[in-house]
Amino acid sequence: MPPIFDKPTTEKYDYVVIGGGSGGSGTARRAAMYGKKVAVVEATPYLGGTCVNVGCVPKKLMWNAADLRDRFRHHAAGYKFTNLGDPTFDWGAFKTQRDAYIRRLNGIYATNFDKEGVEFHQGFGRLTSPNTVEVTLPDGKGKYALTADHVTIAVGGQPTLPSDEEIPGASLGIDSDGFFALEEQPKRVAVIGAGYIAVELAGVFNALGSETHLIIRGETVLRTFDPILQETLTPWMEHTGVHIHKGSKVARVDGVKGQALTVVTDKGDKIEVDTVLWAIGRHPSTKNLGLEKAGVKVDERGDIIVDNYQNTNVKNIYAIGDVQGKWLLTPVAIAAGRRLSNRLFGPEKHKNDKLDYDNIPTVVFSHPPIGTVGLTEPQARKKYGDDAIKIYKTSFKSLYFSQVDQDLKEPTVYKLVVAGPEEKVVGVHIIGQGSDEAMQGFGVAVKMGATKEDFDNTVAIHPTSAEELVTLR
Ligand SMILES: Cc1cc2nc3c(=O)[nH]c(=O)nc-3n(C[C@H](O)[C@H](O)[C@H](O)COP(=O)(O)OP(=O)(O)OC[C@H]3O[C@@H](n4cnc5c(N)ncnc54)[C@H](O)[C@@H]3O)c2cc1C
Repeated sequence: MPPIFDKPTTEKYDYVVIGGGSGGSGTARRAAMYGKKVAVVEATPYLGGTCVNVGCVPKKLMWNAADLRDRFRHHAAGYKFTNLGDPTFDWGAFKTQRDAYIRRLNGIYATNFDKEGVEFHQGFGRLTSPNTVEVTLPDGKGKYALTADHVTIAVGGQPTLPSDEEIPGASLGIDSDGFFALEEQPKRVAVIGAGYIAVELAGVFNALGSETHLIIRGETVLRTFDPILQETLTPWMEHTGVHIHKGSKVARVDGVKGQALTVVTDKGDKIEVDTVLWAIGRHPSTKNLGLEKAGVKVDERGDIIVDNYQNTNVKNIYAIGDVQGKWLLTPVAIAAGRRLSNRLFGPEKHKNDKLDYDNIPTVVFSHPPIGTVGLTEPQARKKYGDDAIKIYKTSFKSLYFSQVDQDLKEPTVYKLVVAGPEEKVVGVHIIGQGSDEAMQGFGVAVKMGATKEDFDNTVAIHPTSAEELVTLR
């Protein structure tokens, strides 16, 4: 086990980072690479943050399990596999194995810190001045202070839950952290929310066989995504068995923890389930962080305000990742953190390094998955005007599904949003099997400013689904 520090090892650090998640680790390791004296203060014993412990990684493993079940149950027979039976998923056993894998990842983070000379201080970090971070040890009693030339806040965020005053019985529910703690698969579950975490977790439950209810305020899921994605995924989720309660708000949750719960909506629906999961958003983990003491400004949501270079309003204090409220994604936090260290500690050529937040590609691990980059059609029309925008789109059933029953053929829908006479591609929105893996390459093309002609001039890869994106008419 690499060392965990419980006191300062120097009079002054070059760099102290609060939070050992995606962004914090990324920025700390890059600074250490430049030979700087670096400490990371992490409140939990586990490095890696949300993504590794209760986010991307365990979520993707659960998505893989769900995807496999779809293939066994729905597709294998079409490919003339026989004696399939009805494979059952052992949630508890898989959780044990998944947790062990996560612990290995935590260990790799700690080993990397050790190898690269980043000190891991386990404790709660709080700013007591612009250059001082107080560390409270896990026992809550011991305290010491780290002094630094530069301090970065990378404390991420946490799920938002309504209070029992706002929605009686709300605390009977769990959040996405609670999803990863579930030892058993609930037979019936209500997921509340329409964002990507709600969609992903509802999709996992449903594909793994739980009776799944999704309670959304509007008529479609993923309201901030391109309409074509909302309009394709919402009915397909319903087709695959998710009970979507549209235009509904939760009025109260009745019951006793550990027993059946009843979700009552403002429409009067009563939905009896075993687990209620809130996925209605996240907020920054800035409580007791000492922001007021150091004079760091936040916006009305509580997100730390930064400029394009991750500078807060206080000299030598920076913020990266979810805590600054822009693009809550792991690679964004890492990229911003590395660039910040390049700028602060790297060679002259990096002195203006910063992350460009335009055209960030992203994926939703729904069933089927979604990939998206750039502007949605409504955003593009607003930015460039209706006359300057042209849409290319296609929808089809991929070759894979040619061998399965009509009812089980997943949709594939692709849309290109192009702008101006040169038909610059300003948005790519795709849903369908393989969209998650296909998106990265199209992300490069859009980032480079590709035009529709560039797409057309690219020879198709056959037979794939993604080839349809370079043959759109
Ligand atoms: C269910 C779920 C699924 C997700 N799926 C994806 C995905 O597929 N792809 C993707 O790119 N992103 C995904 N994300 C988002 C991703 O996890 C975050 O964007 C990313 O982790 C943000 O990194 P960060 O460094 O800002 O914060 P975090 O990774 O959250 O790290 C913050 C760290 O700071 C620590 N901390 C907090 N306060 C203090 C304090 N005062 N003192 C010391 N330590 C403190 C925390 O314990 C934590 O370890 C998902 C998130 C969730 C919840």
